[in-house]
Amino acid sequence: MKQALIIGAGISGITAARILAEHGFLVTVLEKREHIGGNVYDYYRDGVLIHKYGPHLFHTNFLKVAEFVQRFAEFFPYEHKVLGEVEGKLVPIPFNFKSIDILFPPEKAKKLKQSLLEEYPNISSVTIMELLKSGKEEIKELANYVYQYVFYGYTRKQWGKPPEEMDPSVMGRVPVRLSYDNRYFTDLFQKMPRFGYTELIKKMAGHNQISIRYSCDALKYLTIEQNNIYWDGELFHGPVIYTGCIEELKGKCFGELPYRSLHFELEDRPVAQAQPVVQINYPNRYSYTRTSEFTLIQPEKKTDHTILVYEYPIPCTKEEIPYYPIETKENRELYEKYKQALAPIKNLYLLGRLAEYQYYNMDITIKQAMDLAERLIGEEANGSSKREQGKEPN
Ligand code: UDP
Repeated sequence: MKQALIIGAGISGITAARILAEHGFLVTVLEKREHIGGNVYDYYRDGVLIHKYGPHLFHTNFLKVAEFVQRFAEFFPYEHKVLGEVEGKLVPIPFNFKSIDILFPPEKAKKLKQSLLEEYPNISSVTIMELLKSGKEEIKELANYVYQYVFYGYTRKQWGKPPEEMDPSVMGRVPVRLSYDNRYFTDLFQKMPRFGYTELIKKMAGHNQISIRYSCDALKYLTIEQNNIYWDGELFHGPVIYTGCIEELKGKCFGELPYRSLHFELEDRPVAQAQPVVQINYPNRYSYTRTSEFTLIQPEKKTDHTILVYEYPIPCTKEEIPYYPIETKENRELYEKYKQALAPIKNLYLLGRLAEYQYYNMDITIKQAMDLAERLIGEEANGSSKREQGKEPN
């Protein structure tokens, strides 16, 4: 029987596990934590579905991904809306024409919107880093304002660095919108699993050829010698998909690869609704970046009690859970060193946010996992037909 080993029972590991299992692989998943789902894990507290590791809003433009996830859960339409506190007012984030209307006098707002449309015809959004490069005085002034009040403080808190030290793609996730579109995401598919991600991932893992070992530190059982992987002392020939921190596979021999972590505080409120929208960002005050009211996501939740979750970014020390790779040039170079050092191990595959050191959204993670599993299935089929013909696999 073809065997595969997967390190990590998060969304990428379990997606790959499911597809491999459906194509005849016997899959063992080793998970360090006591629960499934990695950082998409959620749980009920007083009837409210809390995203334990911060807000996870599902959105995708990949039909393949939307179809795949809907095999395992019922999804309901949900478009995420975010407000940010700027000069004491709550304005839509991504910053858009409505934000301009709220923050500037009517004549000035009209001129700003007109200038933006003239300067950027036929596009729906522009990144703050692009906007800052504008040669038009009026736009530059607006760019400086948005940089100062929306991006600077939030980014300092979130990453411990100013925006210009981050890879431009990080700020690019939240552009400035050249319209009144106040949705956080613009993807075609924006829906949430009705009973949460834990339920969804459990269903995905529910296959008789998948077994999961929890509270299992895989690195205690895996050894790498002369570019071969040994599992429990025995040479393992099948694919090993690793979704943990890449540097741990090499005993951090080139040094620490930095991550950002988060700390959450929950506050019970004896009211039906505490905020006007699910998420409020605080770029300019407090040490938390945002508050989330998950109660508002659940369409059927009717209660006189709600829960607010405060999100505090923190450095990722040994005890903390890594949430985000910190995308800087220096860190990317260090990552590449680890990747190259592992490249000679032919049956090792790096997958997901931590192993690939990429700030992936859930849908990209799932897509990468699907693509990898499909590739492995293809290679296995090729290999076995070659073996049947008496040839060595490539
Ligand atoms: N960001 C910001 N102000 C905001 C929202 C986002 O400066 O009000 C920046 C910040 O650097 C953040 C990045 O944009 O880390 C990406 O934001 P996103 O909402 O995608 O973060 P996530 O939900 O992945 O934590």
